[in-house]
Amino acid sequence: MQIKCTQCAADVTVQQDETFIECPFCASALFLDKRKVVFHYLIHSNFKPNEAEGNLKRWMSGNHTVKDLDLKSKIIKSEFYYFPVWYFKTKDSSGDKIHLQPAASTSVSEIKKLQIPAGALKFYDKNLHNEHEIIKPDVLYDSARQWLSDSGVSLETVREAALVHIPFYNFHYTYNGKTYTALVEASSGQVYANIYPAKSEAPFRVLFAMAVTAFILAGIVCYILAFVITDDFGEAVVAAEIFKIISYSLISVPLMIMAYVIAKKI
Ligand SMILES: [Zn+2]
Repeated sequence: MQIKCTQCAADVTVQQDETFIECPFCASALFLDKRKVVFHYLIHSNFKPNEAEGNLKRWMSGNHTVKDLDLKSKIIKSEFYYFPVWYFKTKDSSGDKIHLQPAASTSVSEIKKLQIPAGALKFYDKNLHNEHEIIKPDVLYDSARQWLSDSGVSLETVREAALVHIPFYNFHYTYNGKTYTALVEASSGQVYANIYPAKSEAPFRVLFAMAVTAFILAGIVCYILAFVITDDFGEAVVAAEIFKIISYSLISVPLMIMAYVIAKKI
C-alpha cells in the first residue's frame, strides 16, 4: 500500500497492518489510521520512577485528599507507559488552541486537560523506546474528529492533527481496603486522578447545623430570661442583648474546639 508523507508529500510504501511509519525520505514519524496519515509524536519523560513517586506522595499529603493519605496508603505497583492521545490544533479569530482526546481507553478523563508545552513534541522513534511501553491507539482518528465536532469545535478550523504518545507512571495504591489509581505525567510531574480518598465535608456540615441551632436557642433563652427579671421593656431588650453576647461567646468556645478537632482528624 502507498501513502503520502504529511511532511514531504513523497509516496511511501507501507506493509499491511503497519501503523507506526517513518518516512524514508524526510525521516518524519507518521501514524496511519486506515487511509489517514498524521504526524506521530512522543513527549520525553523527565522523571525517574522514584521522582514520580515523590510527586504522588506530595499530592497525597495535600489538601484535596484525606488526611495523611501519603502515610496511610500503600503503593502496590506502578507501570510506566506512553499513552496515546489525538492532538488537534485549531486556529480561528481567537487564536491557536490545542484539543486532546484519549486515543485508548482510560478511566482518567482529565488527560484531556493536559498542557503540552511548545517544543515538547518529538518525532516518535522506535529505536529509542521499548515497544511494550508504547500503548497502541484503539480510538480511531475519525471518532476523535467526531468528538471534537460534538464538543462544538468547527472541523474547518483544524490546522494540524497528530497522534502523540505521552509518558505516564500509573500508580496503584490501597487505602482502607480499596484500590485506587493515580497517574503521574512524566514530562511535567503533574498528578492526575479522578477517584481518590477525598476529605469528607459531612462532619463540618453537622457542626454548622449544630452551631446555628445553638445560637437560635440561646437567643430565645436570653430574651425569656430578660423579660422574667425586669418588667421594663427597654431594660429587658438591653439585658437580653447583653446575655446574648455572653452566651454566644461561651457557645463559640466548644464549637471552635470541635471544628479544630475535626480539621485535625480528616
Ligand atoms: Zn517525508
